[in-house]
Amino acid sequence: MKVVDYINNSKKTIFSFEILPPLKGKGIEDICNGIDPLMEFKPPFINVTYHREDYEYKKMGNGLLKKVSIKKRPGTVGICAALMNKYKVDAIPHIICGGFTKEDTESALIDLKFLGIDNVLALRGDPLKNESSFVATKGGSKYAIDLIKQIDDMNNGQYLYEETKNSPSNFCIGTAGYPEKHFEAMNLNSDLKHLKAKVDAGAEYIVTQLFYDNQKYFEFVDKCKEAGINVPIIPGLKPLATVKQLNALPYRFHVDLPEALIKSVIKCKDNAAVRQVGVEWCIKQSKELKNAGVPFLHYYSMGKSDNIKAVAEAVF
Ligand SMILES: Cc1cc2nc3c(=O)[nH]c(=O)nc-3n(C[C@H](O)[C@H](O)[C@H](O)COP(=O)(O)OP(=O)(O)OC[C@H]3O[C@@H](n4cnc5c(N)ncnc54)[C@H](O)[C@@H]3O)c2cc1C
Repeated sequence: MKVVDYINNSKKTIFSFEILPPLKGKGIEDICNGIDPLMEFKPPFINVTYHREDYEYKKMGNGLLKKVSIKKRPGTVGICAALMNKYKVDAIPHIICGGFTKEDTESALIDLKFLGIDNVLALRGDPLKNESSFVATKGGSKYAIDLIKQIDDMNNGQYLYEETKNSPSNFCIGTAGYPEKHFEAMNLNSDLKHLKAKVDAGAEYIVTQLFYDNQKYFEFVDKCKEAGINVPIIPGLKPLATVKQLNALPYRFHVDLPEALIKSVIKCKDNAAVRQVGVEWCIKQSKELKNAGVPFLHYYSMGKSDNIKAVAEAVF
């Protein structure tokens, strides 16, 4: 079922979460440990992130260095199939531009259509570790909007090199939004202009980058409305879990941490106490968002579910 249909059919806020594919070589059971404890909260779907290859220099027998591409995690197609089969929920693969030619993307979408997957989250992807800014793959999409247009074309029966009016896809397309602005955008207005273009191109809902100050989400929703963006905006949340994340979260996700949260974390004796502070903060955020009537509360589990379970127990 499509995410927008879940939203239209439900009168209350629904629980959902995303997982990371396991490290290369591990099996489905490795991610189930993180998923099983969350299934009692009846998520209608599970998002599966996509992780690009890294490039490393390896010494060859002749002493020369060779640049090699190393993939650390498997792709999403097989994982989505396994999750749908095991948990009888929808699986939402994240599809990214980086590392994919348009032909690769079409091929992945054909596999997803074959599996009966109804939703995709279309993203650009981050720059590679050794790149200062995102470089589009030759023959691939430069921005998420190009990917959205390709998926929308397929939904209209227009494949890359042929029209297949008899077998159009029917994906519900989600896109990313940034309450605190995407880090590359010149300002929030220009980011919103591009977000509106993604919606106009076919994105039916937005999932936000994580944030720790609900006011930023509420202001973002208002500004989206002013900009003519009228699709559901699903807030993304992640409980803070370690002292290190005081620096890591702003660095990695370009978000501000509220002063009160920082003060509470700094007072903690150890990471167990920090984890508890993170859970309590996230419960407070979740309750306020739920009271405001958000369609979903979407949690970034990143493989660890004990703190999200604690939040869900208090909120759902
Ligand atoms: C909910 C969520 C899930 C994510 N999941 C993943 C994942 O699974 N794998 C992964 O690798 N990354 C993931 N990311 C990270 C995401 O790929 C990065 O944040 C990336 O830097 C931007 O992706 P985007 O889709 O928002 O890009 P875009 O929408 O393409 O925007 C990127 C930047 O370009 C600007 N821009 C957009 N369109 C244009 C245009 N036409 N002309 C000029 N400028 C433009 C925007 O303002 C923005 O600054 C996720 C992010 C979110 C919020």
